[in-house]
Amino acid sequence: MSTSTSTSTSTSTSRGKTLVASDLDRTLIYSTAALALGMPDAQAPRLLCVEVHESKPLSYMTEDAAELLARLTAETVFVPTTTRTRKQYQRIQLPGTAPAYAICANGGHILVDGVSDRDWHESVLRRLGDECAPLSEIRAYLTATTDLSWVRKHRVAEDLFAYLVVERERLPEDWLDRFGGWAGERGWTVSLQGRKVYAVPKPLTKSAAVREVARRTGATLTLAAGDSLLDADLLLAADRAWRPGHGELADSDWTAPHLDVLAERGVAAGEEILRRFRAAAAS
Ligand SMILES: [Mg+2]
Repeated sequence: MSTSTSTSTSTSTSRGKTLVASDLDRTLIYSTAALALGMPDAQAPRLLCVEVHESKPLSYMTEDAAELLARLTAETVFVPTTTRTRKQYQRIQLPGTAPAYAICANGGHILVDGVSDRDWHESVLRRLGDECAPLSEIRAYLTATTDLSWVRKHRVAEDLFAYLVVERERLPEDWLDRFGGWAGERGWTVSLQGRKVYAVPKPLTKSAAVREVARRTGATLTLAAGDSLLDADLLLAADRAWRPGHGELADSDWTAPHLDVLAERGVAAGEEILRRFRAAAAS
């Protein structure tokens, strides 16, 4: 896209701007249950805790990944792109320069220097009102069809979508299939990630928010990574994309022509994704 006639430099200015939109949980950062170290303890990488919740360490990346991310934030427009609520996102302390843009609530909020962009949020609410069943209908279904033998918590995120915290071993598979079908007919997507079952409106996407950030920043290349069904649209919308060897997309062998599937699983995949982002941004 560059129209520069300069021949003396290969700076990012003459190449155009690279936007890196990455999912966080189980893509860049990992809880202890998701680390999948898979090696003798004495050979395990040193880990950096990047999130504390209720005074306890919660999420980690390898120290090498932290170094790679710090460099990436200096070299590109790095946009954390998460389904987390703003509050859940804001307790993560990522290494590197604080991002000018972050996407929370699966695209429901674009944070600009930490503050939600009101125009964007209002445009999202209008689309949801027009294109899918209301949240109240989804909540009513969840209340009527689940029971306490396998559901620990019912949660609503940012008044935009719902999720359940479940006992994964006790989650009835036929219930998940039925709910997925029922919700699909009403314009909602169901995604199982770890101990959480998410129900998210189909028009509420990470990719729509990333397109908006790309427009505002004038990015000419978009790179993306993610591990779950809620990342599929993000990966499809990017110029190049990566997914780890674990997760909901890996479980269904999900792929796309411009997607590289990594062999690594767990926290090692997070580190490799950052290496790939930097290499692609520099090429
Ligand atoms: Mg994820």
